[in-house]
Amino acid sequence: MNKIVSLSSFDRQKRKEQIASERYDLLVIGGGATGCGIALDAAARGLKTALVEKRDFASGTSSKSTKLIHGGLRYLKQLDIALVRESGTERAIVNKLAPHLCLPEKMLLPIIVDGTFGKYSTSLGLWVYDKLAGVDKEDSRVMLSKKQAQTKEPLLNPTTLKGAGYYAEYRTDDARLTIELIKKAASLGALPINYLEVTDFVYDGDRICGVTCKDLLDQSEVKIKAKQVVSAGGPWVDKLRAINDSITNKRLQLTKGVHIVVPFDRLPLKQSVYFDVPDGRMIFSIPRGKVTYIGTTDTVYTGSLDRVVATEKDRDYLLHAVNNTFPTITLTKYDIISNWAGLRPLIHEDGKSPSELSRKDEIFEAPDGLVSIAGGKLTGYRKMAERIVDKVTNKLSKDSSATFGKSTTKKIALTPEPLQDNKAVRAYISEVSSMCKDVGIDPYYGWYLVTNYGRQAANIMTALPNYKSEDQEVNIALSELDFCLEHEMVQRAEDFFIRRTGRLYFDILSIEKIKEAVIARLAESLEWSADRLKKEREIMDALIHDATHYYESEEVPALAHDVVA
Ligand code: FAD
Repeated sequence: MNKIVSLSSFDRQKRKEQIASERYDLLVIGGGATGCGIALDAAARGLKTALVEKRDFASGTSSKSTKLIHGGLRYLKQLDIALVRESGTERAIVNKLAPHLCLPEKMLLPIIVDGTFGKYSTSLGLWVYDKLAGVDKEDSRVMLSKKQAQTKEPLLNPTTLKGAGYYAEYRTDDARLTIELIKKAASLGALPINYLEVTDFVYDGDRICGVTCKDLLDQSEVKIKAKQVVSAGGPWVDKLRAINDSITNKRLQLTKGVHIVVPFDRLPLKQSVYFDVPDGRMIFSIPRGKVTYIGTTDTVYTGSLDRVVATEKDRDYLLHAVNNTFPTITLTKYDIISNWAGLRPLIHEDGKSPSELSRKDEIFEAPDGLVSIAGGKLTGYRKMAERIVDKVTNKLSKDSSATFGKSTTKKIALTPEPLQDNKAVRAYISEVSSMCKDVGIDPYYGWYLVTNYGRQAANIMTALPNYKSEDQEVNIALSELDFCLEHEMVQRAEDFFIRRTGRLYFDILSIEKIKEAVIARLAESLEWSADRLKKEREIMDALIHDATHYYESEEVPALAHDVVA
């Protein structure tokens, strides 16, 4: 079995006492991919690091993306060459650091009558893209004739199809990537806690020297001392900058992106497709396990940051787009089984539409010392972290004689005993699928467990005989839950169903079957009161409702996530 650092759900109180009693070199606000990446880089360089997250790790944008570790083809259209190059290089690095979380995914880009790209621009664009992203020769783009494109994807519309580009992308699970980043950071000495919300800054003269937090699970207050505070609050960055009145003319512009999910057999694509939408945008359809997901929209957003929902307009836009590209499937709203809606924390630029705004990250520094980072991509988390920690170590070195080395995260594998490469991932999927088959479990779970947990799947499989339900799906879920309680700081039902396992988005139909058993075990393990249990059920039901409903308007009241234990 793998030796895994314990980010145990049961140590939270102890961790809270520790975080309040020490002084940190660096306190990171926000447990998305950006914040967790920063915590990892800093801990690896020997900084005494803490991180607080107001909800769960990855509960913000980092569980709501398109889930691609990509070279950023669309940036090529914006002529952002440096960004394409950095995304491509980073993609190759993430593939080495966690191959089970960065899976090669061939992408088909149909060339259509009056489409965004013509034959020659696609051919040249994809060639440049491959060069900048450093794609291996065997993965280089191939240009396909109309006939070849139809063979690759018979569902494409034959009346508008002219040919296609066929190129390399990589698929991830954004939330699992974030969780592994924070586990690795903890294994190197960082102290992360979820459900601690920063409500104010603490000052020494005119410099920030710490933060005040509210514990959203018991309403207590915690003060944390730190030499440097970095905000990686994603869409909430300006809310945090409002606390110290440091918003300048460089501010966030939030745009919403919605994905819808249908059963795989309603859109049985042979590979992912990146296609034109009648309004001139492009969207993805990506097959994944039991489902295919379609997205994304990109619209200016001014609603609640704490409850972002899909509207009927979002749903109809995506349905229209997908039916236009694959005319024989005629998807209707009744085919959709779930959705997710996330916010892009982009940097405002006067006169630009949502799709035109740059995806580059920006660092803001306030006079009181608060450093904030926003924008960027999941794919670039490591470089963003490196830039921030370089800045922090420079500052710390100026204020004391301490010296810190350069970033080493390029060489730090994210999980213990990582699978070596894509081939090893495939081989391990077959091995775990056979193990599943042997004990009467759908071999799908072999793929699911390995692409979620990598080699840590062994811990879940080994513990399986301890669970005695007649339904093996319940046994798998409980074995996963115990693993996540022991190692991944699960505090609430939604943490498990959304961020640790992705079931709300990719296997929503399984939730009904396992929900009661999972919630009962959480209640027993975390010693929930009857009130807490009731509240957890209500919140889970509300989240399932949001993932399966489409609202007339984005103006919905925030969910009451605060709980008195
Ligand atoms: P977040 O994940 O939002 O994390 C910020 C965290 O800060 C949150 O968890 C929040 O709870 C916490 N926080 C806020 N305020 C406080 C406080 N006061 N105290 C404590 N904690 C606080 N990128 C890619 O590379 N590939 C893609 O395919 C891709 N697709 C995308 C599709 C969509 C629709 C969207 C919206 C984005 C996509 N992105 C993609 C971009 C990528 O998802 C984001 O850049 C990335 O997840 C941002 O991470 P973050 O950590 O900065 O923000």
